[in-house]
Amino acid sequence: MKLLEERIRTHGKIREGGVLKVDSFLNHQMDVKLFQEMGKEFLRLFGDCGVTKILTIEASGIGIACVTAQFFDCPVIFAKKNKTRNIAGDVYTSKVESFTHGKVYDIIVSKEFLYPEDRVLLIDDFLANGSALQGLINLVQDAGATLVGAGICVEKAFQPGGEHFGERVAFVGPSLPELPPRTQRRERPLVYVSLGTVMHGNTGFYRACAEGLGDGPWDVLLSVGSPEGAAALGALPPNVRAEARVE
Ligand code: 5GP
Repeated sequence: MKLLEERIRTHGKIREGGVLKVDSFLNHQMDVKLFQEMGKEFLRLFGDCGVTKILTIEASGIGIACVTAQFFDCPVIFAKKNKTRNIAGDVYTSKVESFTHGKVYDIIVSKEFLYPEDRVLLIDDFLANGSALQGLINLVQDAGATLVGAGICVEKAFQPGGEHFGERVAFVGPSLPELPPRTQRRERPLVYVSLGTVMHGNTGFYRACAEGLGDGPWDVLLSVGSPEGAAALGALPPNVRAEARVE
């Protein structure tokens, strides 16, 4: 899906430790239209598999899973990250090592919602080392349900997860062979627009830049001084992004 690849290129941010931040369209603010396109693609890939349940893991998989479930016309279950030590017998449980935080935690799904006759599609945003996906697979197996496959948005192919799951996993976004260093990641010129600290409130100027520079063969970064200033600009062309502050 070119759309997701393009959005990662224009709006993704590289962070320490091989983390790709996608907060402006996937993990925090959510672009529902983009999710719909991903949902349609998951339907194209798994639509003939008789899926009865979609299973994801909280929190970042939930939005994508819900939009996808509308196309499959089935419920979504999200595995909860369990915070209490005593796990009651009425849940399926598995362990997951968080890639982004490095901690091991239990995930649980109530036995009320997953049955042996279920045909389960797993959905998640990233596949990195594969721990989250393996945790979800364990829950499906414990329930005696059938695993139809896994639909993932982005594969970080420089991490080993993809090798473990083979053809059961399909990706709708890019398979990233590596995360380029932050300083070398641009293939297109970047137009940086800032009015310093004094003129930040000039929404009209920033909007004119967005309109004039939108859809060109470059990326545009508007440094607008505050989250409110960024929100005031409304929808922006795909090659333009507004930040409160630029590091
Ligand atoms: P894994 O268990 O495969 O190592 O990591 C997958 C989980 O970690 C996903 O549920 C995802 O939320 C998170 N994750 C892994 N890598 C990244 C990343 O580069 N960026 C973000 N935003 N999340 C990631």
